[in-house]
Amino acid sequence: MNDSSVAQKQLVALKRKLDTAIESRSSLEDDFNLQSNLLIQFIGKLTLVSKGIDLELDNRLAQLRTLFSKSAPIGEIEDKISVISKLLQQHSITNRKNISHIQEQFNQAGESLQKINGLPGDLRRDLRALLSETKDSKDSLIQYIPLLSQLLSFYDLALKAKSTQSNQGILQAPPIVSSEGKKAVEAGAIVLDALFLERISVSLSALPLSKAHTSDLLAIKKKLMTNQSSEKLLQNFIDIFDVIVADFKDEQKNAKNFLTSLSATLTTVQSAVKETIVTQKNSQRTNDIINQKLQSQLLDMTGTVEKALTLTQVKEDINEKLQVISNTLEQKSKFEQENHQQLAEKLNDMSAKVEQLEKQSDMFEEKLAEQQRKSMQDALTKLANRAAFDDYFAKTMIRFHRKPFPLALVVIDIDDFKKINDTYGHTAGDKTLQVIANSIVKSVKKSVFVGRYGGEEFVLIYSKVEEEALFSELNALNNFVARLPFKFKSNKVSITLSIGATHIKPDDNIHIAFERADQAMYKAKKQGKNQVVYIK
Ligand code: GH3
Ligand code: MG
Ligand code: MG
Repeated sequence: MNDSSVAQKQLVALKRKLDTAIESRSSLEDDFNLQSNLLIQFIGKLTLVSKGIDLELDNRLAQLRTLFSKSAPIGEIEDKISVISKLLQQHSITNRKNISHIQEQFNQAGESLQKINGLPGDLRRDLRALLSETKDSKDSLIQYIPLLSQLLSFYDLALKAKSTQSNQGILQAPPIVSSEGKKAVEAGAIVLDALFLERISVSLSALPLSKAHTSDLLAIKKKLMTNQSSEKLLQNFIDIFDVIVADFKDEQKNAKNFLTSLSATLTTVQSAVKETIVTQKNSQRTNDIINQKLQSQLLDMTGTVEKALTLTQVKEDINEKLQVISNTLEQKSKFEQENHQQLAEKLNDMSAKVEQLEKQSDMFEEKLAEQQRKSMQDALTKLANRAAFDDYFAKTMIRFHRKPFPLALVVIDIDDFKKINDTYGHTAGDKTLQVIANSIVKSVKKSVFVGRYGGEEFVLIYSKVEEEALFSELNALNNFVARLPFKFKSNKVSITLSIGATHIKPDDNIHIAFERADQAMYKAKKQGKNQVVYIK
């Protein structure tokens, strides 16, 4: 092989290497371009995501993007990246703080919402689930966004529920709305649950208002029973409030008038008595003067008789003196008459005032008695209420402990009463309570104390009835109620009682005795209801 051919070969080899090198470099350049484009795109996205978090970070990222796009020397790029990564590091610390802060706030807001009365059941459940999901802290703030938005929507729901409830005037339980009710709600009217209406109505009836105001209340109560828009409903409640306030004001005015006239009458009586005393003293003085005058006139007359020389003279003198004395006596009687007259007038005046005062105080007494009666009476059944029972039972126990006698306590609970409410509505439930209360009163002797202990429970107190007679009387009562022909929505329904009874023992106190009667009632329930259980 000659030199030139060797050189030729080397040249070809070199060219090939050069081509390969050029190719690799261009592939490298492509790769670089691809990567730097990817980086630029990434920085672009990062800028978008972090935009607004920190102005400095925004600026630095923009600068980095420019450096990449004009293929700046790697040194410059490195510097920028190191500044940005420091900034990001600071942000990660702040972020962690923010996360724990937001978690705390989130839980607080959630717990506050949980505490609100009258949240619909499903909302309460969802809220509990959301809060347990947020118990552990999240890795990023972003993760809180959907949770926060959910919490916000819960707040919104709670607010809506609350405003519906407050339009209805009730905050505790969700309303039960019938299908007509639903239509009315859609039409902008609010339908009040019959139970709440009844409760309001019962509470209003328990108010001891004056006759005029009671009829005002009745008129408003009637309006309440019709479907009305929320504004009208609110207006009705305001009206009720106004009537009650007006009645209180009247009552206050009456009491004030009463006190004012009481004090005026007392002042009159006091000054009349004072005047009478003064007048009496004056008249006493005048009387004394007249008496003295009479005395001296009589003395004068005696002197005249003694000094007289002839009978005729005596006669003349005496006549003259008697005239004077008779004048003085007339003066005295006139004076006494006037005095009497004055006294009688004053007394008349005084007794008229006292009479007026008596009338007013009778009125107050009546009102107090009415209030007292209402406070001891259950408004729905008109039976003695729990307070009246406590009072009566305590007094009877004192009597019993002083001198024991057969004293029995009976607790009655209506069986499955909730079903009546649930199936036929609360108004039917209330009617049932009234009918059963009347039936109990009708079927026991007058001497038996009958009270409504609460809800669908009644209490009876029997005096001087022994175990056997009591048991048979209670069985009669039980059968009587079980046979009552209740009819709801054309369904015949029979309602039964569980009756527990016991006699009081000398060692019992009120609570132990009640506890035993209550246990007897529960035993009746456990044994299948509709029966009487007596515990010794
Ligand atoms: P049980 O046989 O075990 O006694 O069952 P029950 O359903 O009678 O007893 P429960 O205690 O479960 O329910 C009593 C119901 O009585 C619940 C309550 O709504 C109802 N209630 C209590 N007071 C009134 C009231 O004044 N009017 C009406 N309509 N219902 C009432
Ligand atoms: Mg009960
Ligand atoms: Mg019951």
